[in-house]
Amino acid sequence: PPFYVSKNLFSTTRQQQTVNRVLITGGLGQLGRGIASSLRSKLGDSNVFLSDIKDPDSETLKQGPFVRLDIIDKESIEKTVFENKIDGVIHLSAILSALGEKHPQKAIEVNIRGAENILDIAKNHNLRIFIPSSMGAFGPSTVKDSTPDLTIMRPNTLYGIAKVYMELMGEYYNQKNGLDFRSLRYPGIISGDTPPGGGTTDYAVDIFHAAIEKNQYTCFLKKDTYLAMMYVDDCISETIKFFLAPREQLSQCVYNVDAISFSPEELSNEIKKQWSPEFEISYKPDYRQKIADTWPRSMCDSKARSDWNFYPKLTSTSSLVSKMLSVIKRRNE
Ligand code: NAD
Repeated sequence: PPFYVSKNLFSTTRQQQTVNRVLITGGLGQLGRGIASSLRSKLGDSNVFLSDIKDPDSETLKQGPFVRLDIIDKESIEKTVFENKIDGVIHLSAILSALGEKHPQKAIEVNIRGAENILDIAKNHNLRIFIPSSMGAFGPSTVKDSTPDLTIMRPNTLYGIAKVYMELMGEYYNQKNGLDFRSLRYPGIISGDTPPGGGTTDYAVDIFHAAIEKNQYTCFLKKDTYLAMMYVDDCISETIKFFLAPREQLSQCVYNVDAISFSPEELSNEIKKQWSPEFEISYKPDYRQKIADTWPRSMCDSKARSDWNFYPKLTSTSSLVSKMLSVIKRRNE
């Protein structure tokens, strides 16, 4: 193998105290560019490498270094890490829950093999690594309200199964090899300026565009389906806070984080109030309803709050709706 491929499979690593140069994988999705820009303001533009299997637009290229990387191509990732003296990774490449049920082989490849590759590289090169988990890691037998960090995890989607496997492998390398592995179980993330990537909570973004464009939305979930959610700015700022926190502050590797819970009906009532009383919603539940039915309505995140001061700012449905309407209107101008 080339010189940059470490043969050191089960070494014990010494944890970095700080991170200076970070690689972001899957960086052109809903969350990547926002995370990159926030991290660049802290570490410097040239110290945050964005990567994805897709090609970036020219605007993204102007903002800092970009490398085209397929998460399955372990050798190229390892070469990028070595050549650029990377000491931290934020691994966002994924096939989201709904998409994964449509393309099972792809979900296994990207979500399971991809996580194996990046965890192995992080272990062998002594990198701090953050990988988002999801409320999708829970399943039909998990308690649905205020779901604790430590509870039954028997998900029945490929997405969820891959997340549980990733969490357990990360914790294993943390205990066995000292890998600085960190993970947050995100709720559904809502953003006005980046489209969602094929998850079960996508309706909560789509509904705003539909309201503004045609005052009508057909929802793929039933009206009383409550799910845990968070606004993208909170997701990004709290992720960066967690990623850069001193390891001593963390008493565990994986934490639940949550901000708001609402149902499609509650969200649409608020849109009627703030956007237009004429806004119409109809319901046509599809295969995604089955996925949503197995997920938490809310998660208990008290450990995240007490250990590293997790503190989302946007915590009511009305403030979320006013924020989303203003962001999308500004974007459409
Ligand atoms: P996204 O689907 O918008 O983006 C994922 C990116 O991964 C895409 O840009 C895609 O091109 C890339 N990708 C796919 N296959 C790849 C491959 N083989 N190699 C490299 N890149 C590849 O996802 P997101 O919403 O930005 O989510 C980021 C992370 O957060 C994921 O781990 C996801 O599971 C997690 N998460 C997201 C949400 C949410 O609501 N957005 C909720 C819970 C957890």
